[in-house]
Amino acid sequence: MIKVCKFGGTSMADGMNMLRIKKILEADPARRYVVVSAPGKRYGGDSKVTDLLYETAREVKETGHVGDAFARVASRFRSTVRELGLDFEIDALLSETASAIERDPSADFVASRGEYLAGRVTAAMLEIPFIDARNVIKFANGRLDAPRSYALVREALKGLRRAVVAGFYGEDENGRVKTFSRGGSDVSGAIVARAVGAQLYENWTDVSGFLACDPRIVANPVGIDALSYKELRELSYMGANVLHSEAIFPVREADIPIRILNTFRPEDKGTAILPVSKYRPDGRTVTGIAGKKNFTVIYLEKSLMNAEIGFAHRVLTVLAQHGVSFEHMPSGIDTMSFVIDSEELKDGVLEQICEEIRQAVRPDKMNVFADIALLAVVGHGMNRTVGTSARLFQAIARAGVNVRMIDQGSSELNIIVGVDNENYDRTVKAVYEEFFGRGCA
Ligand code: ADP
Ligand code: ASP
Ligand code: MG
Repeated sequence: MIKVCKFGGTSMADGMNMLRIKKILEADPARRYVVVSAPGKRYGGDSKVTDLLYETAREVKETGHVGDAFARVASRFRSTVRELGLDFEIDALLSETASAIERDPSADFVASRGEYLAGRVTAAMLEIPFIDARNVIKFANGRLDAPRSYALVREALKGLRRAVVAGFYGEDENGRVKTFSRGGSDVSGAIVARAVGAQLYENWTDVSGFLACDPRIVANPVGIDALSYKELRELSYMGANVLHSEAIFPVREADIPIRILNTFRPEDKGTAILPVSKYRPDGRTVTGIAGKKNFTVIYLEKSLMNAEIGFAHRVLTVLAQHGVSFEHMPSGIDTMSFVIDSEELKDGVLEQICEEIRQAVRPDKMNVFADIALLAVVGHGMNRTVGTSARLFQAIARAGVNVRMIDQGSSELNIIVGVDNENYDRTVKAVYEEFFGRGCA
């Protein structure tokens, strides 16, 4: 039996927390391979090491030398080593790291040093080998080279009963360090789990599993016992950032379940994430709610649009020419909307795109709605329960919120609703109350 355990930033935040990791690993000999994040916040208002490292990269680009931000990173690692009472040459490693950063101040390399240092310290604490992710996790053409990475990880871990692998980064075809997007140590953990054929991927964080909605919006939301891979993908992509939305791909192909667990309450059972085939819904209509702010909706109306061959294609070509991707494309008979992350439309891009769309498809009407938040209501239970959308929209109406856009996925696994940013929290609370509040199912 092999379990791969990934520990997130809070679990790594200081020596005390890292001792919890040690205890968790000692409690189960199947927990053989460990993937670590860089240290996160120790308290509200503290900084994450990764954020300090992005700051370091900016400092080095400006001055040629590491400065205050790196000094803060160094001091965090020094105190952790001290707290753990390790016989470990942290000063030498930190000055080596500072020189390496000055030689290569690229944001990816500098940011990756958080996981690298964290991995080295964890390996020293556990007295087991450290695997540098740049030797085993490979990127090609900007994307993970999954087959090669699985083979290299498998090879490196063959014959090692236990080991620590640094999360978040790997190496590209030019031998340069490249990171995943933020939160990417979850992906590294999934790659290791897949590579070694683990029976379980344990993802240890600071909450006792997936909650039915963001705990920063609703106090104490109910926990979710089990989720399917598909539900997880929808929820995490839509902002429930407990787990990186790409972390399921490596494990899904091999049917490896994931369990989200709490380093600070290891006895809690957490959330199991399972293949649809092994997933038994608990009878709830809605499994969870997630969402994100700051989208722009471009709404197009044209009579007989449905009969006009290539209409969507022409609009999508305009977006593609600007390198802009869209999140959703709800459509009616004579209407079509494109929902785009507002970040992608800055610096005049929106205006240019609108002009080009106007020329390309000559719509009867074109409206742009900015500052839209999307809220996704997710659950396999929705397609076997009549009246789910009626309940959803009644709840939103009762909260006095105007719905700006609706998109129901063809899988009937989700309904996505667009509301003004300023109404987002209110909408989440109302929808939560409807489906989970006061004993609702
Ligand atoms: P880690 O550093 O361990 O990877 P993250 O900060 O990435 O942890 O993810 C855990 C956090 O996700 C929680 O502390 C919580 O604030 C947040 N979160 C957002 N949505 C949810 C949700 N639906 N369920 C649980 N936690 C959520
Ligand atoms: N340390 C990285 C981040 O803060 C990766 C991770 O924690 O998963 O995004
Ligand atoms: Mg995370």
